[in-house]
Amino acid sequence: MLTLQNQLQDAAELMQEARNIVVLTGAGISTESGIPDFRSPGSIWLENPPVSYPDFIHKPEARRRYWKTRRSLSSQVRAARPNAAHHALVELERRQMLLGIITQNFDGLHQDAGNDPARVIELHGTSREAACTLCNTRSSMEELQRRIDAGEEDPQCPLCGGYLKSATILFGQHIPADVLARAKELAETCDLFLVVGSSLRVSPAANLPRLALKRDVPLLIINLIPTPLDGYADVVIHEKAGTVLPRLVELLEPSS
Ligand SMILES: [Zn+2]
Repeated sequence: MLTLQNQLQDAAELMQEARNIVVLTGAGISTESGIPDFRSPGSIWLENPPVSYPDFIHKPEARRRYWKTRRSLSSQVRAARPNAAHHALVELERRQMLLGIITQNFDGLHQDAGNDPARVIELHGTSREAACTLCNTRSSMEELQRRIDAGEEDPQCPLCGGYLKSATILFGQHIPADVLARAKELAETCDLFLVVGSSLRVSPAANLPRLALKRDVPLLIINLIPTPLDGYADVVIHEKAGTVLPRLVELLEPSS
C-alpha cells in the first residue's frame, strides 16, 4: 500500500516533466475557503434546491426564490478568501508550468489568489457579475444586489427588459460554446491533467480528463472521495486539496 508521501513523490515526478499542466478544479477546493459544496451536509442548496434555468425564465415565483437563496450564498462568497490550494496553483503558474485552470466554481478565488484571469476558464460562470438572460449584457453584481436588498423582487435589464441574474450557469442552462471550446482545447493540448476537488460527476467537466487520457497524457486526481476516473489515473490521492497541493508543489525541484 502506497503511503501519502510515496503518492506525492510519484505525482511530483510526473509534474516535473510537464510544461503545460491543465488543472480542473471543483467545489472541493473552495470548501476549505468556507464555500459550501451543494452536495455536502448542511448545504443551503439541500434545504432550498437550486432554481433551474427554465423555471427562472418562466416562473416569477422561481425568480423570487432565486434571489432569496442567493442572499446567503453571496455573503459566503464575499467573505471567502483563497486557501493554500489556490496559492499552490499560483506557484505552478509562476514556475511557467501551468497552461490553464478550468474551474467548476464561480467564486473568483483563483483570480483572487493571483492566477492570471486569462488562464482561468469559469465553466459555470461567475457570481461576481450580473448578466441579462436576454441580451447577455454584463453589469455590476454589487449594484444589482443593492436593488434586491432595497426590496426589488424581480429585477429586469434596463436595456432590453430581460430578467437579470448573476452570471453563473444554472441547471438546465447551456455553458457558452466559446467557454466550452476553450476548455476542450486546453484538455487537448496539455501534457498533464490535474483534477483538484472535483468528483467528476457533472458533465461536461467530467468529460474533460477523458480528452487528455485519449492522448495518453498523465492524469492526477486529488479529491476527498473516489471519482469514476480513479482507475485510469496515474496517481489518486483522497485527501483535502489544501493539505496535498502545497506539499506537492514543495516537492518540485527549485525553480530557476
Ligand atoms: Zn438585456
